[in-house]
Amino acid sequence: MKVYHLIYEPSYRSAVFHHWTECNLGCKGCFCKAEKLDFGLFPDALERLKDRPPETAPERFIESAEEALGILSGYPVERAVFIGTEPTLDPDLPALAKALHRKYGSYNILLTNGVKQCDLSDMDEIIFSLKAVTDDIYKAYTGRSNEKTLENFKKVHASGKKLQAECLLIPGLIEADEVEKIAVFIAKADKDITLRIDGYFPIPGCPWRGASTEEVAEAAKRALKHLSKVNYLTADLPRQGETPVRLFG
Ligand code: SF4
Repeated sequence: MKVYHLIYEPSYRSAVFHHWTECNLGCKGCFCKAEKLDFGLFPDALERLKDRPPETAPERFIESAEEALGILSGYPVERAVFIGTEPTLDPDLPALAKALHRKYGSYNILLTNGVKQCDLSDMDEIIFSLKAVTDDIYKAYTGRSNEKTLENFKKVHASGKKLQAECLLIPGLIEADEVEKIAVFIAKADKDITLRIDGYFPIPGCPWRGASTEEVAEAAKRALKHLSKVNYLTADLPRQGETPVRLFG
């Protein structure tokens, strides 16, 4: 299994599984390459990123779903979240989701770039990172076309799975007008799909400045012309909930 880091969030009774795979995108602002531990563990996560050398691959992994359940023993799990360098590329993800469903009846949430689809039978909600709908912008940021991601978004929506979308506001690359285009794309499927806009924060080696709260709020306002639910997250918003417990990695 490709899970190298597992944390537990007591406030939400969430187990958060971080996967490490050879991602099928090459996002220039990939924060997993700058910090592979969960940001929630550090009160100064953004400070830690400054002048940080690129991350190296993890050395230890959780071997199996059984081992993961053992590590979680004693923690009530209501939600399981799968994130990291593209969880769908971990061949053991469906078995892990199934084991969590069986043991806890957890609400399983997958965060994905949407390029590849895996068996989603034991996922309750999929959050697609759409990044951009204008192919040239998507290519400039990720190194490949958005064709598969957009196609898979429509397919998963048609399958009836609960779906959310997220995108990143990057000043000078993915601006408010692109966020509005993303909102229009989502609304064509369903205007009630939630969109979360994350404000970009500087990653070492990237040319862009961080997005201000005002810029992200303005992008949200534009997205709200097309969607009924839009929220946003910026680096300066206070952290919600208790500090997570580091269980592995
Ligand atoms: S899809 Fe996610 S993990 Fe993959 S390169 Fe982009 S930001 Fe990194």
